[in-house]
Amino acid sequence: MGFPILKKEVLNDRFYLLEVHAPHVLKKFKHGQFVMILSKKGGEIIPLTVFNYDKTKGSVTLLVEVRGKSTKELLVRFGEGDELKDVVGPVGISPNLKNVGKVLLVGYNYGNACVYNLGRGLKELGNEIHFIAGFEDSGSSLSGGLFADIAVDIKVAFGGIKKVKEEVRDFVDINKDTALIVSAGIPEFEKEIEEVADVFEVDHLTHASAIMIDPIGLSGSDKVFLDGDVKYASLDGPWFDGHKLDYDALIQRNNIFVEYEKEALRRFEEELEKERKKSARKKRI
Ligand SMILES: Cc1cc2nc3c(=O)[nH]c(=O)nc-3n(C[C@H](O)[C@H](O)[C@H](O)COP(=O)(O)OP(=O)(O)OC[C@H]3O[C@@H](n4cnc5c(N)ncnc54)[C@H](O)[C@@H]3O)c2cc1C
Repeated sequence: MGFPILKKEVLNDRFYLLEVHAPHVLKKFKHGQFVMILSKKGGEIIPLTVFNYDKTKGSVTLLVEVRGKSTKELLVRFGEGDELKDVVGPVGISPNLKNVGKVLLVGYNYGNACVYNLGRGLKELGNEIHFIAGFEDSGSSLSGGLFADIAVDIKVAFGGIKKVKEEVRDFVDINKDTALIVSAGIPEFEKEIEEVADVFEVDHLTHASAIMIDPIGLSGSDKVFLDGDVKYASLDGPWFDGHKLDYDALIQRNNIFVEYEKEALRRFEEELEKERKKSARKKRI
């Protein structure tokens, strides 16, 4: 028996929400943790943050960005009533959250889902949450309303990594009492945010999006380096001290499979195009 999709909502060409019935995840869930899903037999296992949850329904909601084959297949082939083969979780460690005062959450693309979930935990502890939701461009931006319930103010910023970094710099320059920056997105983005946190001497908690093949670091694919120490993003993370994470090593490791990923997406899009032509032909007959 699989895990039924209770609701699917396509937000734009790049993002969608999936509400999945997975009560086991919520039995021990803590903010900042994630699930690993396998949509079908023979598919790829991918990690996705628990964006939101409903304990009464026993459901978790995932905010998914279409990046490659697996996230596109999930969008195109799965709908309400369909079942995901496996939902494993909760995975990862919830960081030791405290009331530190003023906290800036800053996400980039799917990273907004990651900081939102951790931000909910920080808000429950009484922190004052500010949110900069960063996106690559205006077309793929999401409404700030999606994240607004945990924040005293929310700004949607788009135009690439540098543009979002400028917004973060402006924020901490004006808000000198910012105690903590929480960032998530691709490591190229987090590295830029670390530069700001370092200059302004603000604590920085960041999300290591390493390639995860299993939930306990067995494959070694999710190895990350912190001031020379080896850690595993699935087992010890995904949240780490942003001042210590070796971003360049993470970027390099994440690029190992790029050519295979491109090829898998190209083949899947070819398959979809064939199906489209076949169904258009059927309609004409
Ligand atoms: C702890 C964690 C939480 C995440 N939460 C979310 C989320 O809430 N929403 C969301 O949209 N995305 C999230 N991601 C990223 C998501 O896992 C990848 O975008 C997804 O695996 C891409 O798969 P794909 O086949 O569509 O793309 P591919 O073309 O296969 O890969 C695109 C890029 O995604 C990354 N990636 C690929 N496979 C994996 C993998 N098995 N594990 C980790 N990264 C991978 C690589 O950087 C790769 O270059 C999270 C990643 C991690 C590590």
